[in-house]
Amino acid sequence: MKTYTFKGLLTENGWLVNASVVVDENGKIASVSQNTEGEKVNGFALPGFQNAHSHAFQYAMAGLAELHEGTGVPDDFWSWRTAMYNLALTISPDQLEDIAAMLYAEMLRHGYTSVAEFHYLHHDKDGKPFANLSEMGERLVAAAKKTGIRITLVPMFYQQGGFGQAPVEKQKRFISETIEDYLKLLEATKKSVSVYDGANWGTGIHSLRAVKPQDAVRLTKEMDQNQPFHIHVSEQLKEIEDCLAFHGKRPVQWLLDNCDVNENYHLVHATHLDDPEVSGIAKSGANVVICPSTEGNLGDGLFRFEAYKNQGGKWSIGTDSHVGLNPFEELRILDYGQRLISHKRTTFYESGKGDSGFNAIKMAWESGRKAMGEQNETFFKVGDSFDAVVMDADSALVATASTKNLCNTFVYSADVSNILGTIVNGNWVAKHGKHLNHDQTVSDFKKTMAQLKSRQ
Ligand SMILES: [Zn+2]
Repeated sequence: MKTYTFKGLLTENGWLVNASVVVDENGKIASVSQNTEGEKVNGFALPGFQNAHSHAFQYAMAGLAELHEGTGVPDDFWSWRTAMYNLALTISPDQLEDIAAMLYAEMLRHGYTSVAEFHYLHHDKDGKPFANLSEMGERLVAAAKKTGIRITLVPMFYQQGGFGQAPVEKQKRFISETIEDYLKLLEATKKSVSVYDGANWGTGIHSLRAVKPQDAVRLTKEMDQNQPFHIHVSEQLKEIEDCLAFHGKRPVQWLLDNCDVNENYHLVHATHLDDPEVSGIAKSGANVVICPSTEGNLGDGLFRFEAYKNQGGKWSIGTDSHVGLNPFEELRILDYGQRLISHKRTTFYESGKGDSGFNAIKMAWESGRKAMGEQNETFFKVGDSFDAVVMDADSALVATASTKNLCNTFVYSADVSNILGTIVNGNWVAKHGKHLNHDQTVSDFKKTMAQLKSRQ
């Protein structure tokens, strides 16, 4: 047993001041009370952020693909994708583990305590499956275990190059030709996650363009309905046009009409929706994973947040290509995109509840937990694992804010320098701006990046 006493702990009913959290030997919360003796922490504890969408290997190209060459070729999502494929072709299992460990250490330092890994880089460089089908996934789990982040590994079914098209050469590391191939990969994935208590798994389809329709229908019918299901959908206008040409329906409409879309579904991006699609997702209870910094970077478009939220739509955030790793910034970019088109400042307002920062943290957390395959009723419930990001009570804006302004001070003005540390399963994993295994992780990452030469 150990006890932490924080200046404040965020509850559904506001801040509990001088809050003491007793954690048992399994990292679970044994009690929450006030003014108990324990490790005094000069900070305010928020529930750890949930990163509901990640492609770890893409961290190796974060910030690149911005040297626009003036070739006259439009530099858009699709040209970015070619650069990403080129990187994907070169990465070995060891290198993936080093990249993912660096990324996860950085996520923890920024306050994320769980990540859903939308994983499609399955095979060896020549496109042949590894002896262990889940070799690459296992390396992601190893990186998560090493750094202490929770991971939900979601191997992707990726079968073809586009609607009705064979895969291209550059996609050879992603491909499962049949459902049976994919199910074998899924079985191997379950084994990979069994070595780490902080790991879970889910089922996934990369996108409607990547899987034959009859196989998408069959997989979603036969999959374990208790695990989360992730899919990229409607990120790009071209994808809508291609889907309309092939299916005669928009992607989300096709999904709603052909699959039992429900609260275990996590639709990643869902940027371009018409009115029936917005209502259809909201009514189904499914979740949308919004990735504001990546969507902005790739020029995807703005999610129809206001209409969706007004119909009770559920959403979480993800960092996707990892051009941004600050959860507060993700919430801000999401909010500001909406403000710029609505000319209002009430993006996260819910009837009678006007605290934008609190609402954003709560909405993203609840749906984010489901994306991990977990259900939590409230923040910091007795019996749940103790995962928290602790904001520094000494930083200037925080030290001078009243409790009613704290969530907004964090969401609208904080960066990583305002974080005192991050706790997963009752233990500090990052403190004072550094992951606890920082030096080794950086050294491994530098070695790998020197080999890959992708940032030179
Ligand atoms: Zn993605």
